[in-house]
Amino acid sequence: MIQPAAHALLDLQALIHNLAKIRSVAPRSKIMAVIKANGYGHGAVTVARALVDADAFAVARVDEGVALREAGIPQRIAVLQGFINSEELALHSVYDLEPIVHCPSQVDILESANLDKPVKVWLKLDSGMHRLGLNADVFDACHARLSQCRAVHQPPFMITHLANADNVADPVTERQLDLFGGRVAGLPGERSIANSAGLLAWENALAEWVRPGLALYGVSPFPNRTAEQDGLKPVMTLRTRLIAIKQLNAGDAVGYGGDWVCQRPTLMGVAAIGYGDGYPRHAHSGTPVLVRGQRVSLIGRVSMDMITLDLSDCPSAEVGDEVTLWGDGLPVEEIAQHADTIPYVLLCNVTPRVKRIPKL
Ligand SMILES: *Cc1c(COP(=O)(O)O)cnc(C)c1O
Repeated sequence: MIQPAAHALLDLQALIHNLAKIRSVAPRSKIMAVIKANGYGHGAVTVARALVDADAFAVARVDEGVALREAGIPQRIAVLQGFINSEELALHSVYDLEPIVHCPSQVDILESANLDKPVKVWLKLDSGMHRLGLNADVFDACHARLSQCRAVHQPPFMITHLANADNVADPVTERQLDLFGGRVAGLPGERSIANSAGLLAWENALAEWVRPGLALYGVSPFPNRTAEQDGLKPVMTLRTRLIAIKQLNAGDAVGYGGDWVCQRPTLMGVAAIGYGDGYPRHAHSGTPVLVRGQRVSLIGRVSMDMITLDLSDCPSAEVGDEVTLWGDGLPVEEIAQHADTIPYVLLCNVTPRVKRIPKL
């Protein structure tokens, strides 16, 4: 078999470890593992099959839920965007998916539906994020309607989403928690509030269900903390190989645009990965890369299939050496900072040509 140059190793033991770590932080909560966007780029089915202990999964869209059912995933599955018409609602019923109801038009569709089997629904309150969710003044009426609705498994569950939980100094989160707590007080049914940052930083956000995404993949949701500090281990390690090495002279310009000019005689290496694989085109010169486990710097612009490295401090490097872009030994959070982005984006953007290689 041909070993692909650029590949993403998936440490499934780390994934299982991170789930257990989250359970220890939220011991009284059930865990809805968020695996939207192809499991944050790791592979939704691979992640779901590895997380046999997850109590439920969450995806963004109904087709993502259908794909998990067709792959035989048995756990409960919530669909964060729910449905926008009766056909999509019917899919939820047929595939036993649990829509989030966030807009009054969805309540209308449920009331006029004729389903063989009622659906479990999560009614979403907009507690301050101002994206999806019902305004507080219509939440009660929609809840009352769903509580009478034949198409709905009783009682409906309740959900909200935190906008700023990664900023532990921001008073907005307490306001969101108060608003949600006040609205749902006295109503029957399970509740869910916290994403990764919410469950790690806000004890009051732990409800019957927590909804970790990023933390499961071993990445910190906080700008000033490392995943290691929260006891999380990276799941994805993005790797490739050195395919060329050569000596350049002081004054030589490297790559497209010639932005990088060698200040000294430079041993330059070319690694087989680029933005066509999802490596960020905006990674600055100086972004760390591991060669033979040693840190070297990216120099020059990222190309579609290649990056160029300064190997002057790693003179023993040879063509064929393993190159790590992020993951084991090099946190993706750090690469995101060097590329003016967030780790979520880097993980999601790994393209299909990068083979995912799970290891147990
Ligand atoms: C994506 C998402 C999550 C998970 O967020 P993380 O920050 O990755 O933990 C939880 N809830 C909702 C509604 C989401 O859209």
